[in-house]
Amino acid sequence: MYDFVIVGGGIIGMSTAMQLIGVYPDARIVLLEKEVGPACHQTGHNSGVIHAGVYYTPGSLKAKFCLEGNRATKAFCDENGIRYDTCGKMLVATSELEMQRMRALWDRTEANGLERYWLSAEELHEREPNIVGLGGILVPSSGIVSYTEVTQAMSDRFRAAGGEIVYNAEVTALREHAQGVIVTTTAGDYEGSNLITCSGLMADRLVKMLGVDPGFIICPFRGEYFRLAPQHNHIVNHLIYPIPDPAMPFLGVHLTRMIDGSVTVGPNAVLAFKREGYRKRDISLSDTLEIFGSSGIRSVMRQNLKSGLDEMKNSLCKGGYLKRVQKYCPSLTKQDLQPYPAGVRAQAVSPDGKLIDDFLFVTTARSIHVCNAPSPAATSAIPIGTHIVGKVQALLAGQTHNGRTLTAAINDKPSLATV
Ligand SMILES: Cc1cc2nc3c(=O)[nH]c(=O)nc-3n(C[C@H](O)[C@H](O)[C@H](O)COP(=O)(O)OP(=O)(O)OC[C@H]3O[C@@H](n4cnc5c(N)ncnc54)[C@H](O)[C@@H]3O)c2cc1C
Repeated sequence: MYDFVIVGGGIIGMSTAMQLIGVYPDARIVLLEKEVGPACHQTGHNSGVIHAGVYYTPGSLKAKFCLEGNRATKAFCDENGIRYDTCGKMLVATSELEMQRMRALWDRTEANGLERYWLSAEELHEREPNIVGLGGILVPSSGIVSYTEVTQAMSDRFRAAGGEIVYNAEVTALREHAQGVIVTTTAGDYEGSNLITCSGLMADRLVKMLGVDPGFIICPFRGEYFRLAPQHNHIVNHLIYPIPDPAMPFLGVHLTRMIDGSVTVGPNAVLAFKREGYRKRDISLSDTLEIFGSSGIRSVMRQNLKSGLDEMKNSLCKGGYLKRVQKYCPSLTKQDLQPYPAGVRAQAVSPDGKLIDDFLFVTTARSIHVCNAPSPAATSAIPIGTHIVGKVQALLAGQTHNGRTLTAAINDKPSLATV
């Protein structure tokens, strides 16, 4: 019997595992991951941006954790010898409407406590000779990193502290009882006093396995990228972002300097017909039926019909995709856009058709589930892990185990496995 079973070897699961074993060094903790290694899904298929916290509703978990996570990620990289670059980010407005939206974002950055600078068109051009716009905002604290490397370092720390990781172990069933949770996997059964799931694109399915209605469904959105031809590796000095439409949850196609020295363009946001389907031709009949069977997702599609169709059109037509970048980087041509692997975002949707904006956690008596952890969750992974450990402590405080409470046992520092 383990004290904790964690499901998911993405950055949230690994951050949680690493911090949990730090707080409970004597606990028996196992992390189960269905793939062959860590970071195989969202964590290993993203833009690699250490976000600063520009966009998020002041007071939300996203705003708080992103700001904390920006500093914590850089500190973790310093401690673990991981390369990152605080190259800064520039938001660029290309129309009067975007200038208005940018003023609203400027106020938001103030409310979120960010250092930032307003740039005129001339100042923008001076800093970024290949970018055009009516004005911009410079956010110096944004950076870039490989989240795969960060996750690998977290897994190393977890293992070094005595944690166990089992790969190729897909969780297929869960049963919660008064003393814990039985976790059935393709690699055998595991039993834990408590369960934590950090399963990204499968978050709702793991909650459902417990017989609990999750109250949301995961809607997969593919984010397609291109990589610029290598002669453009120095085309920008910062990360270049358009001004997003506030009605849309995604940030718009941006020019991203990657930590390997290349520059990517993307990602767009196209409804995916397979949760872990990275190619356009990847379609799962059961996932598709689930998507169209969900009243919440159908409602999202109705509300965003025009933008959804535009995204699909631009996904099929490179010219349409290119136009979105040319708005602020006019020198790029079709030949400059080279293939690059896509990612798939897990976005929770409520039954009444709302894209759930903030990070979302669901708990039962013996389990904690990360249910909505879209961007900036990679940046925020360390504070999210700390938050989950706080939830674990609250859960343990209310539990008895063989007549003794786990909290008292932890405070007295005996082995958790023996209480
Ligand atoms: C295109 C794209 C761009 C992004 N850009 C950024 C960015 O620049 N900055 C940023 O901060 N965030 C970004 N994000 C968001 C960020 O990548 C995610 O929020 C973050 O990686 C979520 O981590 P996770 O651990 O929750 O999920 P994941 O990395 O998806 O990990 C979940 C894990 O659970 C495992 N799992 C699922 N079901 C089971 C099961 N039944 N049994 C066992 N294991 C299971 C999966 O195999 C997977 O490894 C981006 C995301 C995408 C897709």
